[in-house]
Amino acid sequence: MRVSKLFMSTQREVPSDAEIVSHQLMLRAGLMRKAAAGIYSYMPMGYRAYRKVEAIVREEMDRAGAQELIMPAVLPAETYMASGRWEKFGPEMFRLKDRGGRQFCLGPTHEEPFTEAVRDTIRSYRNLPVTLYQIQHKYRDEKRPRFGVVRSREFVMKDAYSFDVDEAGLDKSYLNMKEAYCKIFDRCDLDYILVDADSGAMGGSGSQEFMVKSAVGEDAIAYCPACDYAANEEKAPCPKVEAPKDFEMLPMEKIETPHVKTIEELMEFMHSEPTAFAKTILYNIDGKIVAVMVRGDREINETKLGNLFDATEMNLASFEEVERVTGAAVGFAGPCGLKEKIEVIADYEVAAMTNFIVGANETDFHFKNVNIGRDFTPDRIVDVRGAVEGDPCPKCGKPMSMCRGIEVGHIFKLGTKYSDALHCVYLDKDGKENSMIMGCYGIGVSRTLAAIIEQHYDENGIIWPMSVAPYQVIVVPTTSQDEAVVKMAGEIHDALEKAGAEVLIDDREERAGVKFKDADLIGIPVRITVGRKAAEGKVEYKLRAGSEVVEMTAEEAIAAALKEIETAKK
Ligand code: ATP
Ligand code: MG
Repeated sequence: MRVSKLFMSTQREVPSDAEIVSHQLMLRAGLMRKAAAGIYSYMPMGYRAYRKVEAIVREEMDRAGAQELIMPAVLPAETYMASGRWEKFGPEMFRLKDRGGRQFCLGPTHEEPFTEAVRDTIRSYRNLPVTLYQIQHKYRDEKRPRFGVVRSREFVMKDAYSFDVDEAGLDKSYLNMKEAYCKIFDRCDLDYILVDADSGAMGGSGSQEFMVKSAVGEDAIAYCPACDYAANEEKAPCPKVEAPKDFEMLPMEKIETPHVKTIEELMEFMHSEPTAFAKTILYNIDGKIVAVMVRGDREINETKLGNLFDATEMNLASFEEVERVTGAAVGFAGPCGLKEKIEVIADYEVAAMTNFIVGANETDFHFKNVNIGRDFTPDRIVDVRGAVEGDPCPKCGKPMSMCRGIEVGHIFKLGTKYSDALHCVYLDKDGKENSMIMGCYGIGVSRTLAAIIEQHYDENGIIWPMSVAPYQVIVVPTTSQDEAVVKMAGEIHDALEKAGAEVLIDDREERAGVKFKDADLIGIPVRITVGRKAAEGKVEYKLRAGSEVVEMTAEEAIAAALKEIETAKK
């Protein structure tokens, strides 16, 4: 393919609204165009790379025995009503009406229509198990679409659904999908970890997320380098802490702490460490004010907190609420002497603190030498902080590490939630009706493309892994004036194309420097430069991922490029 004919435009400037590298590079390399917030079109180069990812997903799904079909993206409201999700999805669901006033939505995920299809097709245990999948646009009116196709409102998902006669069957289907997912993400050259998404359940395999390690990931993950344990920050349980048995309880004192606003200022003033301070934060949880205490150096994990209360709506208490309940300005809340009886919950670590500092519920005052039991008693002692670096692994006890991740896939044992709601049953050997046991499995295909870039770039642009590169080789003649150069570049291009490689030739009337910059930006894995030495039969061979430029003959360069493509397939 000639670069001069390519429908593509590259851009030097970093687009101002693109916060993360993959988003910036996808726009700069001209892979996609924004139509509206979180809605993009793919240009030919971007679509080629996208289709490579899609092809890998499809191949591995087919290999795993899943059958592909395609559902409508526009779905009648009734489909989601029986399961209760028509309401549950809330504003995230794109809704529309036809000219007759009938309600529809743009499918956000397809458990319901798949369940209906299987219900209407399969009667007997003899026709189970079955795993079905589709690769299709999904629509979610995300509260904060951002990061390009990482969190968009129209995105491509591969969603698969398995139907089994019993739990053992589901376990097998689930494992089968899990293995296929590993192959897919390996082939995309992604460094990922499998994270437990089971709420509470330790080491359970009821739901797992595939997380691509990335500093810009929206999820914080605690993982154990010693064993295979990994969980989202809010799912990783923090341990109970033993309170010391023998210690001297010092008399509680009220200390004037004028003008201290932050924990740092307070600690400086008190000549203490944050670990000697228990902060008390007030929340309004479904209309009730609750005081939550964690050690001064820790953060409250709002997911854990919300789960403790099964909360629907949870916010930090307002200034007015804080003043009403504590009788003080914000920043001086504590567990002793609250003006209203409210629930006080303390994190495990707080329960093990002795002679510590808390707010005095009086503006500009703190208490020191506070002790649980003598000075106040929490209503509940719970796990309410997020896991941190060094916390003991709940599986093996060794210290855990933290990283951030982009969720590219999610596998989930659904059980009979949807089959019960939609009456998706089969007849067993005895002719008895049973609900099918379901699993669902999603991959964000478009998000995966962005995640690949997040892990494969440098200051000059994208470095596509061969498996998903839009083109595998780019031939760059440094001039169009020298006949020997033009001829040799053309021959290399033709020979590679004949051998089945996907090749670009940069035949534009541009300076070599411009061509190199663009080749680097769009990230083509192999570059063959044809220049001055063409007359001697020599070219320059360079891998995008490396810095070495090797001089060789045209034939050697062709062979090296083909070998590079072949090796990547293994
Ligand atoms: P998230 O927590 O990121 O919102 P989710 O839990 O809503 O994800 P699922 O419903 O499990 O996601 O969807 C399956 C997969 O679809 C996800 O693992 C992710 O890769 C992808 N995905 C979900 N939402 C989006 C989105 N807004 N843009 C792009 N991909 C998405
Ligand atoms: Mg979501």
